[in-house]
Amino acid sequence: MARILVTGGAGFLGSHLCDRLLDDGHDVLCVDNFFTGSKRNIAHRLGHPYFELIRHDVTFPLYVEVDRIYNLACPASPVHYQHDPVQTTKTSVHGAINMLGLAKRLRARILQASTSEVYGDPEVHPQPEGYWGRVNPIGIRSCYDEGKRCAETLFFDYHRQHDLDIKVVRIFNTYGPRMHPNDGRVVSNFIVQALRGEDITIYGDGLQTRSFCYVDDLIEGFERMMATPAGFTGPINIGNPGEFTMLELAEKVLSLVGGRSRLVFKPLPSDDPKQRQPDIALAKSALGWTPKVALEDGLKETIAYFRRLLAETAIGEGRTA
Ligand code: NAD
Ligand code: UDP
Repeated sequence: MARILVTGGAGFLGSHLCDRLLDDGHDVLCVDNFFTGSKRNIAHRLGHPYFELIRHDVTFPLYVEVDRIYNLACPASPVHYQHDPVQTTKTSVHGAINMLGLAKRLRARILQASTSEVYGDPEVHPQPEGYWGRVNPIGIRSCYDEGKRCAETLFFDYHRQHDLDIKVVRIFNTYGPRMHPNDGRVVSNFIVQALRGEDITIYGDGLQTRSFCYVDDLIEGFERMMATPAGFTGPINIGNPGEFTMLELAEKVLSLVGGRSRLVFKPLPSDDPKQRQPDIALAKSALGWTPKVALEDGLKETIAYFRRLLAETAIGEGRTA
């Protein structure tokens, strides 16, 4: 049994990670400031003898004793990370400094939840880890993209300068139960819109692509990466190479939900990447990892989750598109 800190543990990915670590018999310390996360995501674990929750903002130092750290604290959807962009950069950068400082004092292994956004709007397709990216440093996505890039820099400097045992995972678009219904991400938007019989909002011409990984596959990749020998740092891409246009995704969601929603076209947000697909050769060879869940199967689980959520809570009367 290891003592494991999960920052952002009440969020979408963090709560699934806490579940997996507890099921594997670990002692889990979940730290979250509930900016986008929710107690609902972890309520079923409160009272578990090896689960502990601390409300804390990672931009402030944290003094705890653990063996391993997964650093996930950061809003991930454009709507949320653009709400307070200065705080987003602080969370990525000061949060990384604080968690790296903690890891250094404890000599603990630390894994960073980085992102495919470090590749920006890529000219190389699919994106391998060796690609340096094409990121606008001053646009509306920059608080997130550059914050995450700076966090990677810090991780590698702590590794070189202090011999810290780091792991960096670049996550590609991941979806599944416990996504925030109002976070504006495409999978949650389309499903909630279809379930409510509202128009499906396609930004731009809908021909931009994304590759969607089901949450269980991602968590499996996280655990495998954390278990690699010291010295294997990554960065490593974790994502599902199945690539879809937003029009294809909308059609899939509509065919699974049924109903009477129409597609409507809205302006494309600025700096919206045109294409994104992970090259997962490294994850295959170093972790023996490949995603197992097909988009249709993952969407069915996610739709079932949102159907229950909408029935239980009359959420989001003024939900944003
Ligand atoms: P999420 O918004 O559901 O979770 C983020 C969690 O961090 C929330 O619980 C939030 O309350 C918490 N948080 C935010 N700022 C904090 C702070 N200053 N101090 C403490 N807690 C704070 O998002 P997610 O999809 O679960 O993403 C988790 C991580 O994975 C993020 O770091 C994100 O950048 C990364 N990621 C996610 C995806 C994806 O598709 N879901 C893709 C790439 C990277
Ligand atoms: N998108 C869309 N309709 C929506 C929400 C998003 O067409 O209601 C598009 C968005 O413009 C982007 C893609 O879906 O091209 C993925 O958006 P998301 O915010 O989920 O992730 P990211 O852009 O960060 O990859």
